[in-house]
Amino acid sequence: MPYVIPDVVDVKQRKTDIGPPHYKNFLPPVIQKNYGDWKTHEILTPGLMVHIANSGDKIWTVRVASPRLLSTDTLREIADIADKYCDGYFRFTTRNNLEFLVSDESKVNPLIEELKAKKYMIGGIGPRVSNVVHTQGWIHCHSAAVDASALVKCLLDDLADYFTTKETPNKVRLAVACCTNMCGAVHCSDIAIVGIHTKIPRIEHERFKDLCELPTTMAACPTAAIIPDPAKKSIKLKEEKCMYCGNCFSVCPALPIKDAENDGVAIVVGGKVGNLRTPPKFSKLAVPYLPNNPPRWPEVTKAVRKIFDAYVAGAKKHERVGEWIDRIGWEKFFDVTGIPFTWQHIDDWTYTFETLRTTAQIKWVKK
Ligand code: SF4
Ligand code: SF4
Repeated sequence: MPYVIPDVVDVKQRKTDIGPPHYKNFLPPVIQKNYGDWKTHEILTPGLMVHIANSGDKIWTVRVASPRLLSTDTLREIADIADKYCDGYFRFTTRNNLEFLVSDESKVNPLIEELKAKKYMIGGIGPRVSNVVHTQGWIHCHSAAVDASALVKCLLDDLADYFTTKETPNKVRLAVACCTNMCGAVHCSDIAIVGIHTKIPRIEHERFKDLCELPTTMAACPTAAIIPDPAKKSIKLKEEKCMYCGNCFSVCPALPIKDAENDGVAIVVGGKVGNLRTPPKFSKLAVPYLPNNPPRWPEVTKAVRKIFDAYVAGAKKHERVGEWIDRIGWEKFFDVTGIPFTWQHIDDWTYTFETLRTTAQIKWVKK
């Protein structure tokens, strides 16, 4: 029988490929007028900055934290606040903070007062902690090894002072990804958390033949641990080759890998995307495994805090976490953070040679 489009969809009336609304229709008039013609900007407080145009015009930005997942009620409240103080203009930053854009200086302080009264967290500008780039976690994704929103709440509860007031040597970018797909910024952040599995996938042979494609499933495995099992019209695993990435489950639902007891997180450090002073860097493994312990993940928040405090105490002004580690060396990093160095830290992947120490230069660390 041919596929029939139900009557409720009027295909001829449907508008497609229209793209997003043009951003220029949503700019505050001061920004429209001075577009591309700015002289400077100044950070006035941890959550307030002013941009000054060559014409002398100014626009003030008040930044507040957002949990990223927002209800429509909250969005309506934000829109009401923007109507009251910002002629209706606000924006979201690339780290999902919220920025109110104020053209009238006399409205800046009343806006801040109302935001404080409504318990919004003001801050995140300059050398400090900003929002945590994160993912779907147990709220919405089928491959998560850890939750995202709850873990981010724990991390920022602990570091809230560094969002609102306290300074760090340079900005500290935090990120959470709930599996090794690493949606977001985990691979290029100062301190980041990634959900990991620690057990091999389970093979549901009966479902495999109905649900999965053999070539795609085999090709999804980075270590070639998957081989055909023609007798069962399924696959076999070379267990010793599996490193639990879960990539096979992404393409084949008959290979579930989630494990409530043994899933957890790894912590990676030292990544950056900017080109300031040093080229961008990938984050590297600091802590190979910590257990999932919801709702407050005490082991994880404690380990992040150890790294964070050691960086704040030891880094020079403007040094990012990766630059600080490059200067002091990894031996010293493990020493000052108290994190044990294990065999799991040693890369055994394709370009392992490049990560091995091919010099006699090492630092002895007193034990
Ligand atoms: S990181 Fe993994 S689990 Fe998290 S949203 Fe992306 S694909 Fe899903
Ligand atoms: S979990 Fe990863 S390494 Fe293990 S079999 Fe699946 S794809 Fe291969």
